[in-house]
Amino acid sequence: MSLSIAGALASVQQRLDAATAATRRPAGSVALLAVSKTFPADAVRAAHAAGVTAFGENYVQELVEKSTTLAELPLEWHFIGPLQSNKTRPVAERADWVHTVDRLKIAERLSAQRPAALPPLNVCVQVNVSGEATKSGVALEDAPALARAVAALPNLKLRGLMCIPEPTEDTARLAEQFAALRRLLETLNAEGLALDTLSMGMSADLELAIAEGATVVRVGSAIFGARVYGAPQA
Ligand SMILES: *Cc1c(COP(=O)(O)O)cnc(C)c1O
Repeated sequence: MSLSIAGALASVQQRLDAATAATRRPAGSVALLAVSKTFPADAVRAAHAAGVTAFGENYVQELVEKSTTLAELPLEWHFIGPLQSNKTRPVAERADWVHTVDRLKIAERLSAQRPAALPPLNVCVQVNVSGEATKSGVALEDAPALARAVAALPNLKLRGLMCIPEPTEDTARLAEQFAALRRLLETLNAEGLALDTLSMGMSADLELAIAEGATVVRVGSAIFGARVYGAPQA
């Protein structure tokens, strides 16, 4: 497994580097977040051995288990899944980043529960750029007020915005949704926030997201392989 993860990782890094160069942005200006959800701690170990330091998890239980098992490694844990208010504490205690803040109540709990001994928790506001009714994320028009409220919380550091566009192969539509997130970040910065993170792009569309300004891409299956839900993977 570790050989195949290292190989897959090398090709993802190549795609990322090529996309970064194609948009005339400095080499290394787009970070890779390896999404290890559903994969075992050994897969994380293998990716770390191949040079990855930042990992994304969607489920609180998996975040807790893997961050405990791998506590000896200098890893950065990013929570990227939907977060219920009764599950914020372990995330506040273990994550370095949360990408999926979409309402103030969650942000307030994360701030209140962040241990004093840790640095502020880095967060992104998740924006529903597609307007799909079933989608997580704050509506585009409500995002500025939420971002300002989150930025004011003491134990959080608002770093930027995150989106999951609608699942479509229509690249023009996807590009427009990524661009909407970038424009929102530019507007918020013009209004006085200092945001440096656009978390957008996954295995299938990282080039498009980078072309529209992504600073971190969240890549799972292109590194670790296809996920099987409900069954632990070896
Ligand atoms: C699973 C997931 C990813 C990774 O998706 P891939 O298509 O496997 O790269 C990225 N972001 C979020 C929020 C996810 O849930």
